[in-house]
Amino acid sequence: MPPKPNYARSRELLATSLAGIRGVGPKLEKTLAKAGLETVEDVLYTLPLRYEDRRQVRRIAQLRDGQREVFVGEVLAAAETTTPRARKRLFEVIVGDGTGQVSLKWFHYHKAWLSKRFAVGTRAVFTGEVKRFGAVREVHHPDAELLGSRTLEEIMAADPLSFGRVLPVYPLTEGLSQKVARKIFKQVVEAYAPLTVSPVPPEILQKNNLLPLDIALRQCHWPEVGENESFDEERGPQQARSSLVFDEFFFLELGLALKRRGIVLERGIAFNVNHVYTKPLAAMLPFRLTEAQRRVLGEIKHDMMSIHPMHRLVQGDVGCGKTIVALMAALVAIENDTQVALIAPTEILAEQHYIQFHQWLDKLGLKAVLLSGSLPAREKQAVYEEIREGRAHLVVGTHAVLQEGVDFKRLGLGIIDEQHRFGVVQRGILRHKGNNPDILVMTATPIPRTLSLTLYGDLSVSIIDQMPPGRSPVKTRVVSETKREDAYAFIRKQIEEGRQAYIVYPLVEESEKSDLLAATQAAEQLAEEVFHGFRTGLLHGRMKPAEKEGVMAAFKAGEIHALVSTTVIEVGVDVPNATVMMVEHAERFGLAQLHQLRGRVGRGSAQSYCLLVRSKNCSEDGARRLRVMSETTDGFRIAEADLEIRGPGEFLGTRQAGLPDFRVANLLRDGRILEQSRREAFALAADPEFDSHPKYAGTRQALLDRWGSRLELASIG
Ligand code: ADP
Ligand code: MG
Repeated sequence: MPPKPNYARSRELLATSLAGIRGVGPKLEKTLAKAGLETVEDVLYTLPLRYEDRRQVRRIAQLRDGQREVFVGEVLAAAETTTPRARKRLFEVIVGDGTGQVSLKWFHYHKAWLSKRFAVGTRAVFTGEVKRFGAVREVHHPDAELLGSRTLEEIMAADPLSFGRVLPVYPLTEGLSQKVARKIFKQVVEAYAPLTVSPVPPEILQKNNLLPLDIALRQCHWPEVGENESFDEERGPQQARSSLVFDEFFFLELGLALKRRGIVLERGIAFNVNHVYTKPLAAMLPFRLTEAQRRVLGEIKHDMMSIHPMHRLVQGDVGCGKTIVALMAALVAIENDTQVALIAPTEILAEQHYIQFHQWLDKLGLKAVLLSGSLPAREKQAVYEEIREGRAHLVVGTHAVLQEGVDFKRLGLGIIDEQHRFGVVQRGILRHKGNNPDILVMTATPIPRTLSLTLYGDLSVSIIDQMPPGRSPVKTRVVSETKREDAYAFIRKQIEEGRQAYIVYPLVEESEKSDLLAATQAAEQLAEEVFHGFRTGLLHGRMKPAEKEGVMAAFKAGEIHALVSTTVIEVGVDVPNATVMMVEHAERFGLAQLHQLRGRVGRGSAQSYCLLVRSKNCSEDGARRLRVMSETTDGFRIAEADLEIRGPGEFLGTRQAGLPDFRVANLLRDGRILEQSRREAFALAADPEFDSHPKYAGTRQALLDRWGSRLELASIG
């Protein structure tokens, strides 16, 4: 066995092009490249989808239905025939072994070749999935290895890659067969797996009963399984797989741990809670804060008073009252002569926040400004100046706040609303707009625990787990297109009782124009026919900010009864008297979006309703989403269902969040390993030896490698 290279050399070796591998000619190289396989490392990390247990050759009588099996048989009959109903042609071979018979079928074939190959009396080893149709057992398109004059033992000895063991089944691409893939992959794994080095410290591997990287990789590709050992063909070798998953998670968590450590050690602003503005505000509020709001506010104040910068996430379902908590925190910062930036994902939400905050701030003699992307240049400059000179106490806006040219006199607190739309990167930019300001992020997306560990691993978390009193859950119904009239009648009745309604149209990007047209036309039609005699309004993203503001203000004041809108109202819009929401083409929306949308109603004490209109050509996933919505209003359960339907990659938008991709790990299944790796990583990050001891050099290098510059880990090396 060659000596182990060091970590850096190992990286170089793994970058070896597949063109240099024996048996990989230019054609195969192209095929592999098409599947994204270019280097040795790509192959090492392309793990089998599942495995095929070919340790045992079965008697035909013992074949298990639904399993891929290996068996030996002699051809009893072979002929081309047709399927009874569809009259499709197929080639059928009957084989037997004295214990029973199986029918082998080919639907795509070369007749002359098959007839010659499977002449009566021919003996062969067959492999394939056994299906049962009534009394008949069939195998479609089996693999076959002719025995000729050889015995089974001789065949198996001659082709050890295909028989007598557990085989990997790789994800394949056109032009690449399992047989070729196995051969090439086996070569690569044998030559290169031993050259990988495991940068997870050996004592951590040992303690957690994990295998070193090289052994884990080999085991995953070519599991060594004893003759009588049980083996799960779907899940594969567990210890080896867990080891690879741990390896991936460990570096993710180590990065987050160091980031957190860095923040904790830095010096920020130690705020004074002097109640100059918070007390008067509390007196002005028309309600008392809930228990949960007070607890979370306490946690925030505690952080703000500390000399180290706050990095806290406030999570709470739609409507739980995060805004007021943020406002209180903002006032603490302003009481200490610092400025506050509040960033929201959409213009409309930024405007909403602005309207709300500036109402309260006005009453306290403080100044709030709105920085929107659509502001004319001259006005923008004026706002910039107010920010620079410190006259603006609170700056509300979208991404525009993060842009160059926005300089604060003294930024004390940055608040990010609906964090899931932003990532680690934006948080970093905001931090650099001041001198280590406190950061507060708010999200209504309840994130399953495993995911929040990855996504927000470097933040402390507060949860508002209580709704303001007097709310009852929104009643949700799925309405088929043909029953739309009933829905309209219901809405008219609500309006007659003094309530207001939202009617939401989807706006999908590719067809944005036509959808916009649909919404606009629908608004006209609704105004003239359906809601004749009531006042309707239209709101969409292409309107000028002033127009939008006007419509929102009118809706808020109750001057508009039914607001037809696109999803611009998705987040943050707050009109407690609106009690019905009707969503057109509801199946086109994602679950998170539907939950956010529905959160616009049920904000007052009156019973609220959500009517989800389902189109005729609704997809299966779409129907599943609507079912989830009608079954629960619990944001947490909705998020879990969403994660299940979409998978973690899309759910998180990992790229956007600035997190590395996983090659082996699966956030849904591997939660336990994630927590295990997190414990170990945080313990290691707290070890003073980690930063400089030579024994951790490989681990440190691997960390930088995997995170790149994404986490500002410059302090270690
Ligand atoms: P979200 O958490 O979704 O951002 P908001 O902060 O917009 O929720 O609050 C939802 C609604 O509840 C608002 O109308 C707000 O004024 C109201 N609200 C917030 N806190 C309380 C409370 N403690 N008691 C009564 N109403 C409250
Ligand atoms: Mg909100």
